[in-house]
Order: sequence, then C-alpha cells, then structure tokens
Amino acid sequence: MQNHDESVSELNRRTFLHSAVSGVAIGIAARVGIELGVPTMLEAQTNLSPDAALKELLAGNERFAANRLTSVEHDLEVLKEHTADKQQPFAAVLACADSRVPVELIFDQTIGHIFVARVAGNMVTPEIIATLEYGVAVLGVKVLLVLGHTNCGAVKAAMKSDTVPGQISVLYKHLRPAVEKSGGSLDKAISLNAEHQAELLRTSSTVVRDALKGGKVKVVSGVYDLASGEVTVK
Ligand SMILES: [Zn+2]
Repeated sequence: MQNHDESVSELNRRTFLHSAVSGVAIGIAARVGIELGVPTMLEAQTNLSPDAALKELLAGNERFAANRLTSVEHDLEVLKEHTADKQQPFAAVLACADSRVPVELIFDQTIGHIFVARVAGNMVTPEIIATLEYGVAVLGVKVLLVLGHTNCGAVKAAMKSDTVPGQISVLYKHLRPAVEKSGGSLDKAISLNAEHQAELLRTSSTVVRDALKGGKVKVVSGVYDLASGEVTVK
C-alpha cells in the first residue's frame, strides 16, 4: 500500500510538472483524470468487494460485446511503469487455451487487472490450484471465474473420446464428470464442466475454502459465447 501511495504521489508530481512545463492550463484536469485513472483503478481493486469485482468483469465484457472497448485507451507506458514491481489484479480467470478466448480483451481489461490461468478445457489440476491460490492468498483477487466457451474443442474431443496423438487424452479424465452428465449435449457439457471445475476449486483448495468462508473471494463459473462475445455467469 505504501508503495502504491508513493507511486500515486509520484505520478501527481510528474503530472503537475509535465503540465507546468508544457504550460497548458486547460486540459490539466483532463490529463490528471486520464493519468490518475490507472492508479485509482488499481487502488480500488484492493477495496473491491467480491460482488463488485464480478460486476467490474461483467461490465467489461458488456463493453467488449458492444464494441465499446475502453482498455485500449489506457496509456500503456504509465501502466507498465506502475505494474513493473507489483501487481494488484482484482480478478482471476481460469479459461481454456483456445485462441478465440483472449481473456483480457473479452473483459476489456488491461495490464495488471486480471490474473489469468489457461489450460485446454479450463480444468482444475494441482498446478492450476497452486496458481490460483497464489492469486487469492498473495495477490488478493476478489473473484475467481472459471470460464468455459462455446464450441470447446477439448470438451468435444472428450465427448468423442477418440484416439488422439501424444498425451492429449490426459485431458479427458478431467472433463469426463461433465461429459457424463451432459446427455450428449456439447453446450451442456461445456457449462457443466465450468461449474464442476469451479466446485473443485471451492472444495479442494484450502486457501480458496478459507477465503470463501471469510467472504474475501467469490468463485463463479461462466461460459463465453464465441459468436456474440457475451459471457454468462452462474
Ligand atoms: Zn476450449
């Protein structure tokens, strides 16, 4: 926190100097607003409630789906500078490795805002649990979202259970519980899998369990629709 406060005042100072040097009085407020928009958001992250963190994610997805992205307007240089030594993401997302699910983009977020773990079929493994536990216990993310997506190749492959090269079939066993309950529906298997993996996180991680008990985090599952760009959460 202290570092953060320092960085805010440093930014204030630099903003002031920059404004003073450039001698442009008009626009100072705007510039301060723009430049301070970043640390203000970072500061807010630590204060967000789990519900507010989820709301923030979903609001970003609404902007994305409506083609009204705002994250691209952030000054990347300022962002990099202020996230080089630390990170304060407000959310963690476990998503599929699918190239059509660029997590930061679909939630209209930029550097330092989301802690992302990706693996085919967005499944919970010991390594993924360890990764997300770091997000919760060390970084203090307020919401954990397990995100499946329509037309997921991993789930589709697990449903067919065909012979596949290399170690690809290792994925199947993680996806089987959802596939078995899906009644042969791919959409249902995808949604059930996200729910199943979220439940695994809630129950098999002591860190997540304790954070849930203390009201410090929220674990939700959702599905991203490749066609509409919309995320639906449960
Ligand atoms: Zn997938």
